[in-house]
Amino acid sequence: MKETVILDKKFMEMISGDEINKRIEEMAKEINRDFKGKEVVFLGILNGAFLFTAELFKKIDLKARISFVKLASYEGTRSSGSVKELIGWNEDIKGKVIIVLEDIVDTGHTLERIIGELTIRNVAEIKVATLLFKPKAYTKKIPIDYIGFEIPNDFVVGFGLDYDGYGRNLPSVYTLIK
Ligand code: 5GP
Repeated sequence: MKETVILDKKFMEMISGDEINKRIEEMAKEINRDFKGKEVVFLGILNGAFLFTAELFKKIDLKARISFVKLASYEGTRSSGSVKELIGWNEDIKGKVIIVLEDIVDTGHTLERIIGELTIRNVAEIKVATLLFKPKAYTKKIPIDYIGFEIPNDFVVGFGLDYDGYGRNLPSVYTLIK
């Protein structure tokens, strides 16, 4: 069993880098097939999805563009505290087919926020692809079209996902040892 330590916590390997790369290849094949002859804009959600996005995008053979957005916290003027704002839009996405790329979908709040922003920008079609999905934590109705791996409701790191900023460079996905 492969173990790793990040800061004060121990993790064990859950999905190997080889398995991840194989699965991403399959997902890319599905997307290439489903969107054959169409133009697509991939939208990677930073920070976590940068590796998944890069690996998937290399295997896409469609006429495709890529853009990244980030959900950033800022202190709003409202006393209710911090509000998350989507920053980084630099593509004209009106009328385009968008494939949102997430590292992990947990409760689905982030996804809902992003889909909301895309909807008001009048895109033609929205699809969602995520490397990891926690079905037991998911509280939304938004369909997730491409799922790499369904995982238990535990904290994971690696392949872009962090613990307090660290662990994103791990080539496998690791789960917290309790
Ligand atoms: P959601 O909005 O779906 O609840 O969560 C989305 C965000 O929470 C993800 O994009 C990710 O940043 C973070 N997140 C959720 N579960 C995990 C996890 O197991 N590990 C890490 N590192 N981040 C997670």
